[in-house]
Amino acid sequence: MQPKKSFALVNYDICNPKMCDHDEGRCAAASACTHKVIKQIDGLFEQPMIFQDMCMGCWDCIEACPLDAVSAKHVT
Ligand code: SF4
Ligand code: SF4
Repeated sequence: MQPKKSFALVNYDICNPKMCDHDEGRCAAASACTHKVIKQIDGLFEQPMIFQDMCMGCWDCIEACPLDAVSAKHVT
């Protein structure tokens, strides 16, 4: 199997579910990922995790994150 070349990465210094959704603490990036690769596994108001091996590199999560906490990581 080829090694993964690109995947999304959360900057946990910036990511703050309370800031991007005051009421529900829902991660917009997780909601945007139709592949369910980025998830708030510890629940609402918790930072999301990305299952990088499964990431399709579509970058919908990057566009959805209001705090620009998600970026594309390219491994060469
Ligand atoms: S990744 Fe972005 S949208 Fe998701 S909780 Fe963090 S700051 Fe909010
Ligand atoms: S790049 Fe696409 S597949 Fe990967 S976590 Fe973001 S939305 Fe999901």
